[in-house]
Amino acid sequence: MNDTTIAAVSTAQASAGISVIRVSGDEAIKTADKVFQSKSGKQLCEMKGYTCALGYAFANGEKIDECIATVFRAPHSYTGEDVVEISCHGGMYVTAGVLRALYDAGAQAAQAGEFTKRAFLNGKLDLIEAESVMDIISSRSKASSRAALNVKEGALSRQIHQIKDELMNRAAHLNAWADYPEEDIPAVENSALCDALRISQTRLEQIVRSYDNGRILKDGIDTVIAGKPNVGKSTLMNLLAGYDKSIVTSVAGTTRDIVEESVVLDDLVLNLSDTAGIHETGDEIESIGVDKARNRLQSASLILCVFDSSAELTADDLSIIHMVEDTPAIAILNKSDLSPMADADQLKESFDEMIPMSAKNADGVNELIGAIKRVCAVGDLNSASALIYNERQRSLTVKTISCVKEAIEALNMGFTLDAVTVLIEEAIGFLCELTGERVTDEVIDKVFHQFCVGK
Ligand code: GDP
Repeated sequence: MNDTTIAAVSTAQASAGISVIRVSGDEAIKTADKVFQSKSGKQLCEMKGYTCALGYAFANGEKIDECIATVFRAPHSYTGEDVVEISCHGGMYVTAGVLRALYDAGAQAAQAGEFTKRAFLNGKLDLIEAESVMDIISSRSKASSRAALNVKEGALSRQIHQIKDELMNRAAHLNAWADYPEEDIPAVENSALCDALRISQTRLEQIVRSYDNGRILKDGIDTVIAGKPNVGKSTLMNLLAGYDKSIVTSVAGTTRDIVEESVVLDDLVLNLSDTAGIHETGDEIESIGVDKARNRLQSASLILCVFDSSAELTADDLSIIHMVEDTPAIAILNKSDLSPMADADQLKESFDEMIPMSAKNADGVNELIGAIKRVCAVGDLNSASALIYNERQRSLTVKTISCVKEAIEALNMGFTLDAVTVLIEEAIGFLCELTGERVTDEVIDKVFHQFCVGK
């Protein structure tokens, strides 16, 4: 695969200030030289790595655009191969023209994720770090981009390598001891081996626990705004969204379908759903909305239960309390700008957190964010630590833990050390799959297929 030279647009497929077209492979510089002519007359193949030239891109002898070409020489490039990046004006027509000229000059169209795949195959990144590139691109908040960058810079890989090295040392000792009894190799002490395996198990379990935090950072918290009609659900939705997403009126029952919006609040991504006011209604259309709202409550990870503090609680309010019993929920005592009438003590008993708010006056948002972090246990969400971000990484870590646990059990039950060695080696195999050191082509293809073309 690596003897081809590939090209693709690496910036978004839209009109923009500039576009970057990347060419990578043995012939990258030669190919780009056929398309690009510098104003100084110097050829790209005469240039050192990390230097650039101003010039023009040509197709069939005709000028397409004024561009800058940057040369990267192997192995000091993103892919580890010779790379040229041509930055042209970001018009869709011009960008496509430069790309087509590169194809005509001999480059092949890059597949999805092929630049990063080559970086992986050339040892510039391990598989965990390569996956984090996609997480950086898709990050929607500061915390998630910071966490993904930490992983890209090896925070998780370093931990995995340390655990793997420890297991490899143990396996090597076991093998040496079994294979060379006549040599002066110190005997394997079961209790020391067991302690070491337990430490590895604990560290792996910590890594698996980080998956939930990783998912919250990456995917956000599925949050439903619920309550009876007219308590201020849509006003709250609009306040959190920062613009009028839901219709606000004093007429009850205006939100009939679910209105969705993802918002970022102080590094937390909330996938908000504003639902129809839950109450008994004879209106056929409204009751469809109420059913949808009830269903959405079942799949929520967090429910913001809105009550009108300026009126007494009603049977509809109380029925909602029962519906949210099994899900993390916060009571929002809205309309705190009006005189209080609702029985706050009754709500306090039913919810872990109760926040007085005036959605209309934007009062109480910071208190709400604090309550969300407490209820979802993300208060100590530490994006500086290594988080696992995807199911592939999680399931391989879980499989490794099972092998390590089985090895500990085998030791405790007095099995032969051969059996223990096999289990430790199996654990090492899963860790190698995690980092990509031992991985099948199918897995590699699957990982990089999720990338976009040009990355
Ligand atoms: P929903 O039916 O629960 O979505 O309620 P809306 O958001 O449509 O609001 C119903 C009415 O309550 C509207 O007239 C809002 O302006 C008003 N409202 C919403 N929040 C507040 C608040 O914090 N204070 C006051 N005084 N009125 C509010």
